[in-house]
Amino acid sequence: MKTGIVVKTTGSWHTVKVGNERINCRLKGNFRTRNMTNTNPVAVGDHVIIESDSDKTGTIIKINDRQNYIIRKSTNLSKENQILAANIDQALLMFTLDFPETPLEFIDRFLITAEAYHIRTILLINKSDLYSSIQLKRLEEVTEIYEYAGYTVISTSITKNLNLDTVMGHLQDKLTLISGNSGVGKSSLINHLCPGLNLKTNEISRANQSGKHTTTYPEMVELNNTTFVIDSPGIRGFGLTDLNRNEIGLFFTDIFKLSRDCQFYNCTHIHEPNCAVIAACRTGLLHESRYRSYYNIYNDTDQKYRMG
Ligand code: GDP
Ligand code: ZN
Repeated sequence: MKTGIVVKTTGSWHTVKVGNERINCRLKGNFRTRNMTNTNPVAVGDHVIIESDSDKTGTIIKINDRQNYIIRKSTNLSKENQILAANIDQALLMFTLDFPETPLEFIDRFLITAEAYHIRTILLINKSDLYSSIQLKRLEEVTEIYEYAGYTVISTSITKNLNLDTVMGHLQDKLTLISGNSGVGKSSLINHLCPGLNLKTNEISRANQSGKHTTTYPEMVELNNTTFVIDSPGIRGFGLTDLNRNEIGLFFTDIFKLSRDCQFYNCTHIHEPNCAVIAACRTGLLHESRYRSYYNIYNDTDQKYRMG
């Protein structure tokens, strides 16, 4: 028996990394019944116990409990979810202020789902080489908004090799989910950090991959022996299903901190008197974009504030 980590899964074969060895494994037959709502019982990132057979293949006999996992919601009527990755240490959300523009509410929605899953997120603002002086001011402002909320924000240019060492420093020794809209530079980043890999980086092929009927599986990319990233076509969130509106304020890290000074312990920060969040918004301590996202998500229907 050996313990390993699943680095790739394609249908019935799963590649398990045991030390420096990669072993192709099948799953022991009786796993399928355990979780009927998932199409795939084993996911990239799973820690598994295998028995290896003589011919360099093996059998997965146990999947260890998952610290966390992300799912892709089914797009058909079968209501089956696909587990895309498990045991993520952190997420790296890449976005751009232009080419393409990313609405801050998209970022805020991503962040609260990550918070709800206790997954730390690092924000990476890419393509800084393309920004005008006005956009660079905006970059500073956006950086301040998210640093105030407690996040690490790194602005990068992949073409100009700007701050990519800093990014690597944050990835070291962790399994990181790399997320972000199509076209922001995810493949370019991974290619830079792992030159032999050569992921396709043209927008058209990437756009196809994030389409609804995608059949691509996420693969763990090994940057070094202890550092892995998962490129995640089609993932926009963490499959959050049951966040209720009264919990949203807990996951806006800045609003949560401010809310300790609200008069009412169960203040919704919408209409109550002596609300510290609204006060902070008036003085500019809390940026209005964060409050606006909170307000919009709070007022959304259940359906809309689900990600993915
Ligand atoms: P993905 O869809 O997030 O994987 O994005 P890609 O890595 O495919 O990048 C989309 C396009 O943006 C490609 O044409 C890249 O060459 C370009 N790109 C990526 N990063 C940068 C950057 O920092 N600066 C500039 N100017 N272009 C970039
Ligand atoms: Zn309040």
